[in-house]
Amino acid sequence: MIAIYPGSFDPITLGHLDIIQRGSRLFEQVIVAVLRNPNKMPLFSVQQRLEQIRLSTRHLPNVEVDSFDGLTVNYAQMRQAQVLLRGLRAVSDFEIELQMAHTNKTLSTQIETVFLATSNEYSFLSSSVIKEIARFGGSVDHLVPPHIALEIYQCYNHNSPISNPTTTEAITPRKSIPMDQEA
Ligand code: ADP
Repeated sequence: MIAIYPGSFDPITLGHLDIIQRGSRLFEQVIVAVLRNPNKMPLFSVQQRLEQIRLSTRHLPNVEVDSFDGLTVNYAQMRQAQVLLRGLRAVSDFEIELQMAHTNKTLSTQIETVFLATSNEYSFLSSSVIKEIARFGGSVDHLVPPHIALEIYQCYNHNSPISNPTTTEAITPRKSIPMDQEA
């Protein structure tokens, strides 16, 4: 059975990779499909995202990376896929994902949506959270593969995280100085 894993992947995160890895054990082939969406202003071009995903999944022989536009079900039919693979993080994902699955069912009765629950450690993780952290100079090294972390820092004009909030002086409580010793 062939599954399509559609999304924006701007950029791909360890949460996405976890779904891809687990999906690749369930299906003969998983096609990670980057949606070409003219309405979104992405951080990375479709070409960059394809390369990022290819590099991150090269250890998985039954995973292919591609891009598409238009309706996901049309693309799935074109690729002779029977399954749309999606990840579920929280109740907030559920509502929109269920609506999407029902809509797709009205467009093609042949294609099933299969949801994989996020692994606990990635339940908070999204591409937008990563961009938000990196924009303010925080480290995303623990959230994306190393080559992607570097590309993200470069987008925001630095080559590494500027600060790691857990190690800055700023949050260390000041020792209290008796009033009469203050300058
Ligand atoms: P979209 O723009 O379609 O939401 P995304 O790239 O944000 O595309 O996500 C693609 C799919 O991956 C969606 O089904 C989303 O719910 C799922 N996903 C995103 N982040 C995670 C995560 N941390 N754990 C599990 N699934 C995730």
